[in-house]
Amino acid sequence: MYCEKCNRIIETDRCPFCKNSKVREPEAKDPCFLTEQPYLSSGILEDLLKQNNIPYLKKDVMGAGMAIRVGPMFEMSRFYVSYDQLGGAQEVIGNLFPPADETEKEEQ
Ligand SMILES: [Zn+2]
Repeated sequence: MYCEKCNRIIETDRCPFCKNSKVREPEAKDPCFLTEQPYLSSGILEDLLKQNNIPYLKKDVMGAGMAIRVGPMFEMSRFYVSYDQLGGAQEVIGNLFPPADETEKEEQ
């Protein structure tokens, strides 16, 4: 299901983020929340999405005034992609940020 308010794909009939129960089936062009990244990794992610020809929407979480005060290093960016691109985009993220519990090498 899809929550229009949060632009998120959800598993339930009620949005766990905003408690909205007016959810519906997602459509191909619905913008879907992908991830939230700090300044540095959001630049890397942007490059990767471009390389994979995945159109995305980027929203800065902090207001511009705040970013000027604390510097861009602390800024967070939210990424949205259309529903039909979500699978591919999640793959890009999976390659970029492997799950933390997946430790391939354990050296002693
Ligand atoms: Zn919601």
